[in-house]
Amino acid sequence: MNLLKPSRRDILKMSAAAPALALSASKVTALGGPDGDQAPGYFRFTIGNAKVTIVSDGNFFLPGTAAGINVDRAEVEAFMIRHFLETERIFSHTNHVVIELGDAVVLVDVGSGNRVSMTAGKMLGNLEAAGIDYNSITHVMLTHAHPDHIWGIRDDFDEAVFPDAQYFISEVEHNWWLTPDRVNMIDESQQNLVIGAVNSLNADLLQLNLVQGDHEIAPGMTMISTPGHTPGHMSLHLESDGEELIVTGDVTRNAYFDFERPEWYGSPDMDGEKSVATRKRLLDWASEDRITLVGYHFPFPGVGHAIKQGDAYRFIPALWKWQ
Ligand SMILES: [Zn+2]
Repeated sequence: MNLLKPSRRDILKMSAAAPALALSASKVTALGGPDGDQAPGYFRFTIGNAKVTIVSDGNFFLPGTAAGINVDRAEVEAFMIRHFLETERIFSHTNHVVIELGDAVVLVDVGSGNRVSMTAGKMLGNLEAAGIDYNSITHVMLTHAHPDHIWGIRDDFDEAVFPDAQYFISEVEHNWWLTPDRVNMIDESQQNLVIGAVNSLNADLLQLNLVQGDHEIAPGMTMISTPGHTPGHMSLHLESDGEELIVTGDVTRNAYFDFERPEWYGSPDMDGEKSVATRKRLLDWASEDRITLVGYHFPFPGVGHAIKQGDAYRFIPALWKWQ
């Protein structure tokens, strides 16, 4: 097998073997009713003049041991049990954000496609259900290059799914994954992540823009540097008519641990200490300025607010409203 140009089968095979993210389809159990039995996964609200739609890509599981790797396992399990969470595995939603403001239609991250889990890769169907024509998307912002955020970037012909859109990713993130021979510089269990990122960022027809530092990609929408989870992780800040929203990406991955135990980090956090510092900085800012948050992996639709409580925080989910 050629590591730099593996077949899709190779990728799936390696993905199944990755303990860090445990993205194996065989380990995933469908939730709820039979396929097609759920309501479409989208949720709408406004921030100032911006129309915001959360569009689900589905869900997947992380192993239970992926959380709180810097604290005693018994303490993590006690926390999980107290919060009605499974200890063996961690349920993760995937909440994409579409922001329509002025002439811009901005999508954050492109999801898993058919490369990660049978229960993910539902974003295109949910965009359609939400009445969003994917040809109308003008900008795609990539928070980072992990599988659940980027492997859906190309179709089965290796072409970018939104060929007319401009894509944006941090230059630091891009260059880290595309460092020549990176695949041989990291642990074997992580190699599939590198191969997937390389193939994603090299998709045909991809109009990729590399961003250095904070960068306004469209009026009112600024990519902000939030490293730690990955070397060049970025979040998106929206400001319109005095209202603000932060699409955190994986700065906050869990609506329970990351708020009540913000100093805990997990195995997917590539620099644990830095991910904690970034998370606290972002949650301090959001709670102080009462900014609306979207968490990619929070329970759908993942929209709400942070309240500061001593050295920790609480997540208050937004209400579902009919206008
Ligand atoms: Zn993620």
